Amino acid sequence: MSESLKLLIGKAELDTAISRMAARLKEDYPGPLTCLCVLKGALYFFSDLTRLMGDQVTIGMLTTKSYDGTRSTGFKADLSSCPDLKGKDVLVIEDIVDTGHSMTRLLPLLQEQQPRSLKVCVLIDKKARREVDYTPDYSCFTFDDPFVVGYGFDYDERYRNLPEIYELSFT
Ligand code: 5GP
Ligand code: MG
Repeated sequence: MSESLKLLIGKAELDTAISRMAARLKEDYPGPLTCLCVLKGALYFFSDLTRLMGDQVTIGMLTTKSYDGTRSTGFKADLSSCPDLKGKDVLVIEDIVDTGHSMTRLLPLLQEQQPRSLKVCVLIDKKARREVDYTPDYSCFTFDDPFVVGYGFDYDERYRNLPEIYELSFT
C-alpha cells in the first residue's frame, strides 16, 4: 500500500484564516490571556496564531494522547508544563476536534484549576464525525471526513513538519 498526499489547505489560505482568527481573538480578549498549546498537533498553528495576538498573551503547553482501547477511547494528559490557571482567562489552542472525546476529557481537568474563563480555538472542526456533543468556541476550518497531515498533523509521527495541509490516502 502506498501513501499519497493531495493538497487541501495551502499556505495563503492558512495565513488568511489565521490572521482573521487572531484579529477576532484580539477583539474578544482585549486584556491578559493565557493561551495553551495542545502538543504536538497544534504546534505550528499555536505559534503562528499567538505571534499575531500582541503583548497581552502568555503561553503554556500541555500534552494529550488519545488511543483506542478495546472498550473505550483512552486519554492521557500531561499538564506539567501548564501554568497556574486560577482566575485567568484561558484559551486552549488545539489542532482538530474529531470525535470530541479528547476535548471533553481535557476540559474538566483544566476547569479544576478554576480559570476565570475557559474556551477552545481549533484549526479544524470535523463536525460530521462527532461522537459526543461538543462544539469548539472558535474554529478556522470546518469539514467532514478526510484524514489530514502536515502543519502539525501526523500519520504515525510523519508529515508534521510540512508547511501546508494535505489529505492522506492509501492506494
Ligand atoms: P478526538 O477524536 O478526540 O476529537 O480527536 C483526537 C485526536 O485525533 C486529535 O487531537 C488528532 O490528534 C487526531 N485526529 C483526528 N482527525 C485527524 C486527522 O484528520 N489527521 C490527523 N493527523 N489526526 C487527526
Ligand atoms: Mg490533538
